[in-house]
Amino acid sequence: MAENCLFCNIVAGAIPCQKAGENDQVLAFHDIHPQAPTHVLVIHKTHTASLSESHDNALLGDLLGGARDIAQQLGLSDYRLVVNNGPQAGQTVFHLHAHILAGRPLHWPPG
Ligand code: AMP
Ligand code: ZN
Repeated sequence: MAENCLFCNIVAGAIPCQKAGENDQVLAFHDIHPQAPTHVLVIHKTHTASLSESHDNALLGDLLGGARDIAQQLGLSDYRLVVNNGPQAGQTVFHLHAHILAGRPLHWPPG
């Protein structure tokens, strides 16, 4: 756990979240500023700052498979999975996470 990491503190239960699903490896919770009717963040319980700083393919498999399972549990068929890597790509929280966005038409390319 990274002590001053927001998402590590959510995993630890020190900061509350609206849980959307969980398994032994990953936790999913609703985004505090939703950008779609369903906007869920999926994080690994182990701290990694970003996708480009992750060198653990098993962790990445947990994250992607976890996102798939949580989308299924939420009854989603069509959804977008987004990983923002780095500030210029919109990453604001430096604990690797995937956004599940669903419930409205999603345009391409994203802004
Ligand atoms: P990103 O910009 O890709 O790093 O995504 C970070 C996301 O975390 C943003 O969509 C924020 O709205 C969301 N967020 C920030 N703080 C919280 C929080 N305490 N609980 C839930 N979501 C949060
Ligand atoms: Zn963290």
